[in-house]
Amino acid sequence: MKVAVIGAGIVGLSTANWLKRYGQDVTLFDREDPGSQASFGNAGTYAKYANIPTNSSSFFYLFPYLLLNKNSPLFFKKGKFIQSLPWLMQYLSNCRQSKVRDTSNKLTTLLSLVDEGYEDLFNDADIENLISRESIFYVWSNKLFYNSARKDFETREKTGVKIEIISKNEINDVEPNINNIFYKGALFKGSYFAKNPKKISEKLLQLFIEKGGNFKKEKIEEIKILDTNKVNIHTNENTYIYDRIVLCAGVWSKKLTDKLGENIPLASERGYHLMYPHPENSISRPIAWQERGVYFTPMQDGLRAGGVVELGGNSNEISSKVVSYLKRATEAVFPNINNHLSEWVGFRPSVPDSLPVIGQSKKNPYIYYCFGHQHIGWSLGGISGKLIAQEICANKTDIDLKPFSVERF
Ligand SMILES: Cc1cc2nc3c(=O)[nH]c(=O)nc-3n(C[C@H](O)[C@H](O)[C@H](O)COP(=O)(O)OP(=O)(O)OC[C@H]3O[C@@H](n4cnc5c(N)ncnc54)[C@H](O)[C@@H]3O)c2cc1C
Repeated sequence: MKVAVIGAGIVGLSTANWLKRYGQDVTLFDREDPGSQASFGNAGTYAKYANIPTNSSSFFYLFPYLLLNKNSPLFFKKGKFIQSLPWLMQYLSNCRQSKVRDTSNKLTTLLSLVDEGYEDLFNDADIENLISRESIFYVWSNKLFYNSARKDFETREKTGVKIEIISKNEINDVEPNINNIFYKGALFKGSYFAKNPKKISEKLLQLFIEKGGNFKKEKIEEIKILDTNKVNIHTNENTYIYDRIVLCAGVWSKKLTDKLGENIPLASERGYHLMYPHPENSISRPIAWQERGVYFTPMQDGLRAGGVVELGGNSNEISSKVVSYLKRATEAVFPNINNHLSEWVGFRPSVPDSLPVIGQSKKNPYIYYCFGHQHIGWSLGGISGKLIAQEICANKTDIDLKPFSVERF
């Protein structure tokens, strides 16, 4: 089969590689360099434990604080508050306990397969040296927030996640070089992280090409359904015909699904990072300051301080108030840090029920979707790619994909 994969972020790169492993003739399209968007600037964590949706019940109760407090990691792009409300209301409506439980179960099935989604690709692409197996470290400076997170530990532990609680006195035993302003910490055993997401994407592209895949740097303008059981795609340069198409264009997938007449509530949860030169004595693992929504990740090219959520579209414009917020948080944890070297904003592709969209389009059985991985797409890219490749090639998937189907909208 001739298959086109649209979008070469971590989801598209994984999908394209899995389709090649299943023996297909695959072309991967991206208008930018592969891995240069959300998949470039993330915190790099393979967060197998992240089965509590960000819109959990505690998010609902904390929402007034998140709206009003100057230390809140929730921002609205200037002038975009009203525009963000419809999505935000849907997001909040999913915070009820029964819904959170259901979402959590569905996320657990996907997250339990993170290793399975990547193992073969990492071996083939020789990626292990770009990964560190040190566990992710969550820290809380506020007792109230810690106590509210503790309820989630129980839910996580029931699904097999192993958590080691770290007392205030032990925090510097785990990470000696941070300012211990924290009340408590937790290590998520078995989690790991990428030391260089950009290089990992480059390696996955290289693997895809070595295995006979084609990459085209073109922008897809429209997908058209032909009545001959083929799909037509128009790019800024050409028109092509394929047997199957997989749309993996992250937050920009919505432009193409809107044109197909599918109304999917996909929006951008903007996230930021600042890159610092490594402090003289750095850290050995990602540290996530929970109530500030900031991750500190020791990348190969420096210390990355990133996270937060800013609602309000996909413009590349950087908000200075978010940069100041990240600087404040970083200087609190690393008081002697030098000035940051660069600033970045990227777009988490998010639907309000915190589940990705994986499966066939409602409009045509030859068009498949694989996007909407919100805060955990770096973790879920591999397995999502494997599952959609199985759906296309074998019509039989390792897990039931119905919970992730577009039919739910
Ligand atoms: C600050 C931040 C921290 C994060 N930390 C983590 C983390 O620690 N762990 C984790 O699991 N996840 C994390 N995430 C989330 C994760 O990065 C994303 O969910 C994931 O990268 C999404 O991958 P993607 O391939 O769907 O999208 P993208 O990486 O955005 O890729 C989409 C691609 O499609 C291309 N494209 C779009 N439209 C077109 C078109 N019309 N024609 C051709 N090409 C097109 C784009 O150029 C782009 O390359 C974080 C995100 C942010 C912003």
